[in-house]
Amino acid sequence: MSIQKLKDIVRNISDFPIPGIEFKDITTLFQSPESLHELSDILYEMYKDKGITMVVGIESRGFFMGPATALRLNAGFAPIRKPGKLPYKVYEESYTKEYGEDAIQIHADALGKDDVVLIHDDLLATGGTMLAAYKLVKKMGVKKVYLNFLIELEMLDARKLFPEDVEVESILKFEI
Ligand code: AMP
Repeated sequence: MSIQKLKDIVRNISDFPIPGIEFKDITTLFQSPESLHELSDILYEMYKDKGITMVVGIESRGFFMGPATALRLNAGFAPIRKPGKLPYKVYEESYTKEYGEDAIQIHADALGKDDVVLIHDDLLATGGTMLAAYKLVKKMGVKKVYLNFLIELEMLDARKLFPEDVEVESILKFEI
């Protein structure tokens, strides 16, 4: 299945959740076994030789392909969640969103210094969420970090937020 075909399967919803937002609905990508397999195969090919030991998924749409990719890579999986959701000791990172502050948390023992980590989320927009996740994971002293998205909104140019030596990959790139 071509990348263009996968892009065509993504459903665009105008004015969701608020007026002016063109929402990329990824549920249509998971609906057919063919597109689900294709995504899984692409992710596997991207990271199979990187020595990934842990995949970290960002709540909540990073929880679809995150664990699926961890299984393919024979890696573990750890969730990054909104405050108050994780039951054990956590590390937290705050970040500024368009309207006010937000924060994300990870279990303090989720990652170790020998881990090669792939942080996965569904979509790169302004990059605020992934930047906070990247900082959180870096603070845990892991060996190396890779960043991955199913979709990148290229016109927002959020890649520039991340250090040049960090590999940022996206599967489906949209100009609008
Ligand atoms: P950001 O921090 O701006 O990069 O936003 C990333 C998060 O917001 C992702 O986890 C997405 O789930 C969600 N998001 C932002 N913009 C969109 C959009 N246009 N369509 C779907 N999800 C979006």
